[in-house]
Amino acid sequence: MENNGKKKVGLFGGTFDPVHMGHLRAGEEIREMLGLSEVYFIPSALPPHKESSEVTPSRHRLKMLELALDSNPFFEICEYEVEKSSASYTIETLKYLTGLHADHEFYFIVGNELFSDIETWKDYRELFKLSNFAVITRPGFSNGEPPKPPLALGADFSYDKNTENVIFYRNKNSKVIAFTQIRGLEVSSTEIRRLIKTEKSIRYLVPGPVEEYIMSNMLYRGEEAQ
Ligand code: ATP
Repeated sequence: MENNGKKKVGLFGGTFDPVHMGHLRAGEEIREMLGLSEVYFIPSALPPHKESSEVTPSRHRLKMLELALDSNPFFEICEYEVEKSSASYTIETLKYLTGLHADHEFYFIVGNELFSDIETWKDYRELFKLSNFAVITRPGFSNGEPPKPPLALGADFSYDKNTENVIFYRNKNSKVIAFTQIRGLEVSSTEIRRLIKTEKSIRYLVPGPVEEYIMSNMLYRGEEAQ
């Protein structure tokens, strides 16, 4: 779908260790709500807040994403951050992608729990010159008040409009923060790793081929994967 002649593309960053149905459903719901042409999933090399030894090697996380996204023609993988293989900051990824695709209008998709700490992100004010943000708000994750941009963004954003499941704020560069109310699925990568470690089933929490990959490569059993 087009916006000022530009293609609207979602950017879904994460560790994806492993990718699960919650990620996939969130990507799909937001794609529909915002009329995105595509969603690029961007696995991180070393998330700035996690120790390298805690994270499964990127070749496994990439392979699981490939298996998970294969059946959705609107979903792609962007390997920029894993190829860099050093700590990757969102600002660098956005500079790279906006430089590469001047004809795209990006929407960076992020959970509300991460977005509310936006002032800890490198060059956080710059982010809103390069990209829109689609913030995932899930039932049970808000205090019942309509979501608002974090205080750190000060007066940069003002209320724009409401649609059925989205509240839009806009800044002077015409970039928006779209708070999307998704139905969502209550699952996390932490929970999946915990289930595997305790020899419980993960069926229906991740796509079948991802489950098979995890089992045949003996991931998340307790020893570190190579
Ligand atoms: P972990 O449990 O290891 O912290 P995670 O399940 O939160 O992992 P990440 O790869 O860290 O997964 O998350 C990537 C993005 O997906 C984040 O913005 C996060 O808020 C969002 N997210 C994670 N789980 C869900 C879910 N069940 N529904 C919607 N969004 C989710």
